[in-house]
Amino acid sequence: MNKYGIKKNFGFGCMRLPKKDGDIDYEEVCRLFDTFLENGFNYFDTAHGYHSGLSEVALKKCLTSRHDRSEYLITNKLSHNFFSKNEEIRPLFEEQLKATGVDYFDYYLMHAQDEKIYEQYRRCRAYEEALKLLEEGKIRHFGISFHDRAEVLEKILTDWPQIEVVQIQFNYLDYEDASVQSKRCYEICREHGKDIIIMEPVKGGSLAKLPEEAQAVIDSLGGGSAASYALRFAASFEGVIMVLSGMGSMEMVEENIGTMKDFVPLTDAEMSALGHVCEIFRQQNLIPCTACRYCTEVCPAGIPIPEIFACLNSKEAFGSWNSDFYYGQHTANGPKASDCLGCGACEETCPQHIEIRDLLQKAAEVFEKKD
Ligand code: SF4
Ligand code: SF4
Repeated sequence: MNKYGIKKNFGFGCMRLPKKDGDIDYEEVCRLFDTFLENGFNYFDTAHGYHSGLSEVALKKCLTSRHDRSEYLITNKLSHNFFSKNEEIRPLFEEQLKATGVDYFDYYLMHAQDEKIYEQYRRCRAYEEALKLLEEGKIRHFGISFHDRAEVLEKILTDWPQIEVVQIQFNYLDYEDASVQSKRCYEICREHGKDIIIMEPVKGGSLAKLPEEAQAVIDSLGGGSAASYALRFAASFEGVIMVLSGMGSMEMVEENIGTMKDFVPLTDAEMSALGHVCEIFRQQNLIPCTACRYCTEVCPAGIPIPEIFACLNSKEAFGSWNSDFYYGQHTANGPKASDCLGCGACEETCPQHIEIRDLLQKAAEVFEKKD
């Protein structure tokens, strides 16, 4: 058990619970939670909006009303869409406690922080409110979950040294990705001495279903499924106290328990094999952008070209996953692909000889088109 009372470094994300007849399948959730606890795990993650409020209800029905408070830890979050002024935070928090059936949360995270949302939290003095809850013992630990560029994370952690834990998106494919910036976000957390919780270790399920050639690399290791390697990658980094998986079936629960019950960090050979898998993915990508940023230095419109290409690559390789979200993040307060002036200065400087103007046009069609 670690300093937070966490028994094992793997947590149950309660945002993809099994459903039946349009409702949560509570009977099945009881079975999943019990199996999870019986195998020595004790960390559960929820938020007020998951399953339109029913995730908290499922925790009450299937966990907190059936097990002793000492058997589990619960993380809940303050989500931006449920408050618009400071006075609304406390009643919302009390409602969350009631819905979940507990009188304190082990962790309370400022949910999905990005530049814009952070401004709302500042205006509403939300961090100050959460710190009062900490003082009162209504939350045991205070943190954030984060979805934006590394420089925004740096700012938040500098503003709020009281933050204990940071939840970030982190997986082996996003590790070097210019749009998600997993590696840099991880490094910033470590530089600030924060413990880290990982979300999306399997990239929304994408790393469980690999292209044939990549799967052959995993098979040659002979150590488990593609998903198991993705989980072990995320958990192998120093400072990572928790890896979350949103589980919706007994099959997933059992497979993940098998991987994480007696967790073994990746060996150097396994790390290098995952590097090979990334290369295979990259070969699929149509844009060989290395994020050198020579183009952005000369672009008169200030377009975030490598970030846009990373989003486009992600969209091509994984379909609709959350590349649209990241495109929105990278263009929210500045120029978009459609703001290209067509001057061609970027193409003159690009060492990869990428046809940047055409691809920006494609990105505008893919990400900016409104139905
Ligand atoms: S062509 Fe577009 S992206 Fe390239 S430098 Fe000119 S304005 Fe920027
Ligand atoms: S110059 Fe070319 S390779 Fe470098 S970041 Fe720009 S598009 Fe990518």
